[in-house]
Amino acid sequence: MRTISVRAHGKVNLHLGVGDAREDGYHELVTVFQSLSLSDVVTLEIDDEETVATGSIVSGLTATGLDAASVPQDATNLAWRGVDTLVDFYRARHGLGSLPRVRIRIEKGIPTAGGMAGGSADAAAALLAAHILVTETMPALDQTTLDALAAELGSDVPFTLRGGTMLGTGRGEQLTPMLSRGRYHWALVFSKQGLATPEVFGHLDQLRDQGREIGPSLDTTDLAHALMTGNAEEVAGHLANDLQAPAVSLRSDIARTLDLGKRAGALAGIVSGSGPTCAFLCRSELHARDVLDDLLSEGVYSGATATGPAHGAYLIDG
Ligand code: ATP
Repeated sequence: MRTISVRAHGKVNLHLGVGDAREDGYHELVTVFQSLSLSDVVTLEIDDEETVATGSIVSGLTATGLDAASVPQDATNLAWRGVDTLVDFYRARHGLGSLPRVRIRIEKGIPTAGGMAGGSADAAAALLAAHILVTETMPALDQTTLDALAAELGSDVPFTLRGGTMLGTGRGEQLTPMLSRGRYHWALVFSKQGLATPEVFGHLDQLRDQGREIGPSLDTTDLAHALMTGNAEEVAGHLANDLQAPAVSLRSDIARTLDLGKRAGALAGIVSGSGPTCAFLCRSELHARDVLDDLLSEGVYSGATATGPAHGAYLIDG
């Protein structure tokens, strides 16, 4: 049996400004993504004998590793949808014939429902793996088309496909690369229980309706300058997340974790995306490990250190 394995990375939003809800239900965002070293690997196990001409080419999916028990193992999994989206596009546009049947294996290193784009990373990895499989016999798609297919799968999928440091606008899917110097070191604290992204956005709307002044933080100029200095202390002063207040309001453990991180000496702490993961920016790898050790000794659920920026999705084997 042949395999194709693609790695894709999680992210933290250094800036997450949330504007009004749009007619389509999405909120208008101005965000700065940084990809982190935390990653998942999506492998397509390619059947040597059976081929499929119509319907999904995926016969099954297994997930192992971090939070694997919360990862759906059916066609709703974003990796499964990633393969189907790519294959359906080729069938509709390029008259694709039969393809081998595949099974999907996911090794999770990114927390699930943690605000770190774990599912999106798997969608991007699967899209790329399926593209590699299909282009063994068909012409390749250009980057713009791949990005558009990624955006169909989810707002964070184009970024996890590309990686690095990017400004995201629209619902986060319209990307512009940003200049960033140096490596940034993070201590991350995970939660036992995830938070559903739509719930956090909905709660932000509620808090605003009740008169709470939360953002919208739509200006990233100071952060952009700080990123060009390569100085973590400068960057720490410009982290912002409009979803932090609703995430904290929904989950009191987040406020405690943020407070503990501050006391452990982190340069700054922020809720990652829609949470509940908390990300603490540190001066160095050693500093990040010290901060994490401190937090773990205070009894937080679990955590890891990570560095950024990391890559987008890329082939590691196959
Ligand atoms: P984001 O930061 O993009 O808002 P998130 O990191 O908070 O997302 P995900 O890990 O992407 O959240 O998972 C959100 C939900 O998506 C999960 O609760 C799960 O039911 C579903 N899901 C579908 N496919 C996957 C996958 N491959 N890995 C993890 N979750 C998945």
